[in-house]
Amino acid sequence: MTLVIKIGGAAGIATSTLVQEIAHYTTDGERIVLVHGGSDLTNTLSQQLGHPARMITSPNGMVSRYTDGETLSIYAMAVAGQINTELVALLQQHKVNALGLAGVDGGLLLARRKAIVRSVTPEGRVQVLRDDYTGQIEQVNGPLLRLLLGASYTPVIAPLALSYEGERLNVDGDRVAAAIAVALQAEALIIMTNVPGLLTDPKDSNTLVSHIAAHELHDYMGYAHGRMRKKLLGAQEALNGGVERVYIGSTSLHHVLNGTGTLIERRSLCSQLSS
Ligand code: ADP
Repeated sequence: MTLVIKIGGAAGIATSTLVQEIAHYTTDGERIVLVHGGSDLTNTLSQQLGHPARMITSPNGMVSRYTDGETLSIYAMAVAGQINTELVALLQQHKVNALGLAGVDGGLLLARRKAIVRSVTPEGRVQVLRDDYTGQIEQVNGPLLRLLLGASYTPVIAPLALSYEGERLNVDGDRVAAAIAVALQAEALIIMTNVPGLLTDPKDSNTLVSHIAAHELHDYMGYAHGRMRKKLLGAQEALNGGVERVYIGSTSLHHVLNGTGTLIERRSLCSQLSS
C-alpha cells in the first residue's frame, strides 16, 4: 500500500510519535512518502533575521505567505535546510531509510509561478504584487518517486518547487502532498496537523466532523478558515485525481487511520449503496 503523509509546519505536531509509527508501517511493507511544512520555523527565522513574515489574503479569501526574494531564502533554509534534514535523521535513527528531497531535486515538483499576486489590504483595497515567489504545482516526477520507493527508500519532501524558468518557488505543502498522492495513485493521503480534524467551530474540538463523502465536501468549505481551506482544497484535488481516502487529524497516524480525525472518502458507503 502507498501512503502519502503530510506533517504540518505549525507548532504542536507530535513528530516523535509519527516517526515511530512511520518506522512501524515501513517495517510492515507500506510504501510511505512524507511531505512536511515549515510555517512555524519560517516565521521564527524571519523574525530573527529582521524580515518578519507577512501574510496576504487573496480576493477569494485564501491566506498565504508573501514570499519576496529574501523570504524565499529564509523559507528554503527552514524547510530544506533544517526541517527536512532533521526529519531524515530522526527516521534514520528509527532504521527507516529516509531520503530527503526538495521539490527542485530531479525536477520532482514543477510549478507555475504566479506572475501577479493580488492581495486585499485591511481597508479592502486590492494590491498587485509582482515580486512573489509562490507557485501552483503542475507536474510531479512520479517515476523518480517510484524508483526510490521501489529501492526501499522513504522519500521526505520539502515543498520547494522548481518553476518553468528554473527558479525556486514556495508551494503549499498540503497541495504538494495531494499532487504526489495523485501521481502515485496512493491508497490514502493523510494530513497530520495540530487540530483533531475539520471542526465546525475551530475553537471547540468537540465539533469534529468525522466523515465527509466527496460530493459533500463543498458544503463543508464554509467551516474552514485560513490554512484549513488549503487542506480541504488539497483533499478535493486528491479525490478528483483518484485517491480513495483523505484523512485529516493529529497526534497519531494509527489513531487517525482508525477514526479519530476527519475522513473524506471518494466513494463513501452511502454512495456505494445508492449506486
Ligand atoms: P499545518 O501547519 O499543519 O499545515 P495550519 O496551522 O497551517 O497547519 O492549519 C491548521 C489550522 O487551521 C488550525 O490550527 C486551525 O487554527 C485552523 N482552522 C481554521 N478553520 C478550521 C476548522 N474549521 N477546523 C479546524 N481547524 C481550522
